[in-house]
Amino acid sequence: MKVFNFSAGPSTLPKEVLLEAQKDFVDYKGTGMSVTEMSHRSKAYDEIHIEAIALLKKLLNISDEYEVLFVQGGASTQFSAVPLNLLHNKADYILTGNFAKKAYEEAKRFGEINVCASSEDKNFTYIPEGKEINISKDADYVHITQNNTVFGTRYINLPQTDVPIVSDMSSNILSEVIDVNKFGLIYAGAQKNIAPAGVTIVIVRKDLINQPQTICPTMLMYKTHAKANSLYNTPPCFSIYMAMLVFRWLDKLGGIKEMQKINEYKANLLYDYIDNSKMFKNNVEKKFRSIMNVIFNTGDQDLDAKFVKEATEHGIISIKGYKLLGGMRASIYNAMPVEGVEYLIDFMKKFEMENK
Ligand SMILES: *Cc1c(COP(=O)(O)O)cnc(C)c1O
Repeated sequence: MKVFNFSAGPSTLPKEVLLEAQKDFVDYKGTGMSVTEMSHRSKAYDEIHIEAIALLKKLLNISDEYEVLFVQGGASTQFSAVPLNLLHNKADYILTGNFAKKAYEEAKRFGEINVCASSEDKNFTYIPEGKEINISKDADYVHITQNNTVFGTRYINLPQTDVPIVSDMSSNILSEVIDVNKFGLIYAGAQKNIAPAGVTIVIVRKDLINQPQTICPTMLMYKTHAKANSLYNTPPCFSIYMAMLVFRWLDKLGGIKEMQKINEYKANLLYDYIDNSKMFKNNVEKKFRSIMNVIFNTGDQDLDAKFVKEATEHGIISIKGYKLLGGMRASIYNAMPVEGVEYLIDFMKKFEMENK
């Protein structure tokens, strides 16, 4: 059966990339070995590693003022690594959802952390902006969660500040054009928009990594990985290899600008249908709607459950909303084809007809 996987992560990968990895899986380019078997110090792996870093720099137009690091532990480990490396005095956090709160709770273990804005008053249906945000001038950094995977929101404008912005881009990296120079640090787990779980991307301004806290473990120090070009210890080789293939796929497509057009087209299709439907609703303030995670519900829990069950039977996989929120969520990351979104909308139309 043909399925479309709307999972929030791990999530769908480009078919072409999966086929290429399959072709080379047992015997990578005549080496007689799989990438999963070869030494991370071998020439064949080194080429993969170097190409992956170079392509990511090209796609995001990353200048030499930044380090690109491949680390492990997922985005959640960055919730501690960020303060362990960047926090000396105090830091500000903007709370826009569950992952933002988790990052905040973890950072509090390592020093003085303040909430400088929150959208919890309206159940995270918007992003604080302008005067709603109060960043201390002497904060070491301000932490934001750029796309809120559970609540279906995203930043349209970055906070106006001279304090370095640290952004969790786990669920929107490479989905839209960004200016890396506006950030002190960007991190993202790979399993949403890049690769299978395993590698975590960190892009960090070089001047920010030289004074980690004394308790910072060696493996969490950015400078450890920067010095070793992310080969201090065994990296997640296969995940990095898959990331390299996905970066090539994006590059061939025309880069992030082209990807963004496709993503906006897909999101608009779905939101337009929801806004015109009598059954389905999306409660997010319109301008902050995520183009990666589209949440919706019928307002009736039993009907939501029926939708999820019947959608699953029709090959629409992992459409159930996050347990905190209920309802439905369609994660339409880079690799979700337009065809998948159209298939979902057709099914929603049919369901609405049959259940009105
Ligand atoms: C998924 C996600 C995380 C958690 O990522 P892990 O790699 O599983 O630790 C953190 N932040 C955001 C925004 C996410 O979407």
